[in-house]
Amino acid sequence: MKFLFSGITIRVTKKVIESNFVVALLANSKMESAAYSQSAAAAVHSSFREVFDQYSWDEVSERIYSKTEADVIGALENAGNASINDFMALVSPVALKYVEEMAQRSHRITRKRFGNVIQMYIPLYLSNECQNICTYCGFSFDNRIERLTLNEDQALREVEAIKAMGYDHILLVTGEANRTVGVDYLEKMVKLIRPQFSGIMIEVQPLEQHEYERLIEAGVSSVLVYQETYHEENYRIYHTKGKKSNFHYRLDTPDRIGRAGAHRIGLGALLGLEDWRVDSFFTALHLDYLEKTYWKTKYSISFPRLRPAVGCQQPNHPMSDKELVQLICAWRIFNENLELSLSTRESQQFRNHAVKLGITSISAGSKTNPGEYANHFHALEQFEVSDGRSPREVADMISSHGYEPVWKDWDKVF
Ligand code: SF4
Repeated sequence: MKFLFSGITIRVTKKVIESNFVVALLANSKMESAAYSQSAAAAVHSSFREVFDQYSWDEVSERIYSKTEADVIGALENAGNASINDFMALVSPVALKYVEEMAQRSHRITRKRFGNVIQMYIPLYLSNECQNICTYCGFSFDNRIERLTLNEDQALREVEAIKAMGYDHILLVTGEANRTVGVDYLEKMVKLIRPQFSGIMIEVQPLEQHEYERLIEAGVSSVLVYQETYHEENYRIYHTKGKKSNFHYRLDTPDRIGRAGAHRIGLGALLGLEDWRVDSFFTALHLDYLEKTYWKTKYSISFPRLRPAVGCQQPNHPMSDKELVQLICAWRIFNENLELSLSTRESQQFRNHAVKLGITSISAGSKTNPGEYANHFHALEQFEVSDGRSPREVADMISSHGYEPVWKDWDKVF
């Protein structure tokens, strides 16, 4: 069964028909806001998948591409508290004309909500071993590279080098290799490293809820997991082997993290794989559901734009700098509480401007290969870093714009 709601045809399954959500939806024919639907959806759905299954990629795309200037102006008027429908307008092609106004609003909202602080973080790659084939990644299983996983002594040497740069906040990264970098290894490393940092984030293979609980207990505060693309059919083209090829297991991962009680969940799509406008809509839909379901958790959004890497494909849907500015501002106008993060994938010039647009955390001095800060193994990097400045140089740039670089995340007091 299909019906039209706020311009989007929603597929209704038998299961959904039985839910209160659809009863409420059918009873409220005057509902005009897609955001309202998400509120209702979050109240009655046990996982994001149930919300996701109601949307069609092509119909969402059509809706975004048919947005008008009036829609964009309306969305700008709702800045700071915009609906998912407004978000569609803000990422639409016609909104590019309004990017300057979007930037000014985004800047004002961010200063009001976050003050003049930009948080600094750095990734520590613990391993490049991976059992998955992802067509865009240097660590892909089919890439003939030397594989290595840091042992405790090697990891501590890396930590020492990172601490010497001034960091008190770190992102631990691994590929997805259950035998070598499974939850036992991760728990051991978190316990080893935790005393040195006030905040530990992880970007590792999707885990079960009880495994996330172990890592949170060991000291992890934030878990980042990117869907890469919400285009279910084409997801299979990019993820041809390994556990990551299971689209739904990955889609369900933020729910497992939320149930495990993480302090923060980070979301994102790999910009350039598929149409970034549509992927960003689905990311916003995902965020909207999570915020209403796991309301004690904080959220961050990252903007990984597909970068060149050895043996990897180029972006299918390249995104210009101006479009990336549009997207950053759209997120801020959509949600004033979100942490927005920008990595060294982006150029020095772009990042110099982006800190004034709405970004609240930024990496610097990053190496994307394991053991490169202190052990100097010179393993293959996951992707090419574009901004190669030192953390101190990036901190100076931040200060020169009137912001204060902060090297730590948060302290758990109770
Ligand atoms: S993106 Fe992640 S899962 Fe895919 S090959 Fe790279 S490290 Fe492995």
